[in-house]
Amino acid sequence: MDICPVCNLKPVLKPHKVCFHCYEKIERSYNSPREIFEKSQEKQRLEWLEKGEILSQETIERNINFAMKDEAETWGRIVGDGLSAVFIMIEAIDEQEPSIIFHCRRIAFMHDLIHQLNPSLFFPATDEEIDNFMQAASDFWNGQISESERQKAKIEFSTILEDKKPSDWTAVSVLHWMINLQGHFDWMWFQWFECIYDAIVGELSDEIWIELFQKHFKDEIMQWACS
Ligand SMILES: [Zn+2]
Repeated sequence: MDICPVCNLKPVLKPHKVCFHCYEKIERSYNSPREIFEKSQEKQRLEWLEKGEILSQETIERNINFAMKDEAETWGRIVGDGLSAVFIMIEAIDEQEPSIIFHCRRIAFMHDLIHQLNPSLFFPATDEEIDNFMQAASDFWNGQISESERQKAKIEFSTILEDKKPSDWTAVSVLHWMINLQGHFDWMWFQWFECIYDAIVGELSDEIWIELFQKHFKDEIMQWACS
């Protein structure tokens, strides 16, 4: 009998990769009661009223139905053929407040993550160059090198990977994110692991993701499962 890798307590409920408890907990956050949508529409109606505009009952009703349908469809896509444990872990870790201390832990996680990826994704950078770059990122976030040293490391590494300037999210983007400043990220700062996962989707197995998440964020995941 497989044990749920999120809570490490209950058996997996097939076809999902997690137990019923973890499934139900995440399902609740994607199937909001109608009152939530009604409240949001009421807020919008009052905002419009302040501007002298009327949001009709018919429009309100249509907006509520649309939002509920949209959420249900999103949930359907997430579940697919079975809810993934990696998806839940990402939600649990991304809901943590991204303080600098927590960000240093994210960087340490990424250090291990990059080592698991196929080095050809970073060609022509050598293993040593990648390690030096990641070390500079860790040193910067841990306050051991200055802002000018950070910039120097970034420029040097960008030169090595000049031909790989990503127009889209790739493994190279993930590597660069390690050394970029908070101001560079906007909303991504709060959806850090979701973005990393999307950038390298298919490059690593679920087993590796789970192993890395449990190594670095065991307490946060357990706290999510037990709350
Ligand atoms: Zn569970």
